[in-house]
Amino acid sequence: MNSFNMGSIEAWVPRGLVINGAHVLSAPITQDGLCPLRISWEKNKITRIEVLNDYSKKPLNLVLPRLVEPHTHIDKIFTWEQYPNLSGTYEGALEANINEHQKRTSCLMRSRSEKALQLGLRNGLRAIRSHIDSFGIKGMESWQVIMDLKNEWKSLIDLQCVAMVPLDYWNTREGELLATKVANSDGLLGGIIVPPFNKKKSIRDLIEFFKLANRLNCGIDLHIDESTRDPGAGLSLLIQLLECMEVNVPITCSHSSSMGLLPKRKLRYLAEKLAHHQIHVIALPLTNFWLLGHDEKETPNKRPLAPIKQLQQAGVNVAVGGDNVQDPWFPLGSLDPIALMSLSMPLTQLSPWERLGLSPFTTSAAVLMDLEWDGSIQIGSPAEFIMLQASSWIEALSTSPSREILIKGEWFQK
Ligand SMILES: [Zn+2]
Repeated sequence: MNSFNMGSIEAWVPRGLVINGAHVLSAPITQDGLCPLRISWEKNKITRIEVLNDYSKKPLNLVLPRLVEPHTHIDKIFTWEQYPNLSGTYEGALEANINEHQKRTSCLMRSRSEKALQLGLRNGLRAIRSHIDSFGIKGMESWQVIMDLKNEWKSLIDLQCVAMVPLDYWNTREGELLATKVANSDGLLGGIIVPPFNKKKSIRDLIEFFKLANRLNCGIDLHIDESTRDPGAGLSLLIQLLECMEVNVPITCSHSSSMGLLPKRKLRYLAEKLAHHQIHVIALPLTNFWLLGHDEKETPNKRPLAPIKQLQQAGVNVAVGGDNVQDPWFPLGSLDPIALMSLSMPLTQLSPWERLGLSPFTTSAAVLMDLEWDGSIQIGSPAEFIMLQASSWIEALSTSPSREILIKGEWFQK
């Protein structure tokens, strides 16, 4: 490394992330899909990718691009301690969340959101999409706090924010004001569609919501079908509307959990419709597995989760996110993309050595967030890496490895 930000690393790199096959044509590939490569960079860009032929001479670390978190809630992060939800139910979480929101101050929120950004950065995140409770005057204040942080952190982390309010709030004067503010700050409009809902009212609310998003040219990210009941009811409603009105902004459906409970044919139909309307899906296995169907006396046999593989087969772009971190909705988590891969592996049966097993944590998540760089490795890509102290996927995902972070061609000093 010198003052021109030149450098190189010798490491195991997932073959599936190297775009140009010519660079790795002669490379050996391990059984978990890794190639031994030397990657060189100058200033902020990769300038050279070479196959390492003498790779067995010294142990190599596993290198990944800096990763992204497509769905979390940094405004309520670390609130479990003061607002625990010991029953572990959806209703319990909502109640604790409301109690916390009543006591929320800009100062408290800023402090924990900033802590979240620091943690995410150290763990290897380069972009975070966070939903922010944005209802009422307090919501407006929260939005301002988060916009200040977005600005302060922009050279290190791309913070994308989704204003989360009840859907009918968007159809009020205050909602319209908030939406304008959100659109002007490159944010997204959010909301919640969870059964039981009044179908007629939800249709009316969604139509107005879509019109507003179109008018402001502002993307949408909904919490939808985070439920054990009425499988796919929210998504079906959404599709029904999209079949008869045009929405010109990107739509993301977070959760889509109960869709996984649909019978095969209905599931395939809905997946094809989602693909047709270019809707992205974010599966959130950790919060789903903890919260949905949580019962004091029974271990549930229904575990609602977005049907990731069926969605991928239908052509839907699917990412996996971490969702809540140490708040009433989920008591664990640490904004660590490697821990997320590790904890999700048994729940989703996604394997990082398969292209479609790795993409929900890497390229698909970046595409969904419409980031300039999708995280693939090629000449000219940003020199932005996580170097894990591990030499295989199994070691990396079994041990929560320590790591070094390369940002814009320079090793980040923690
Ligand atoms: Zn969420």
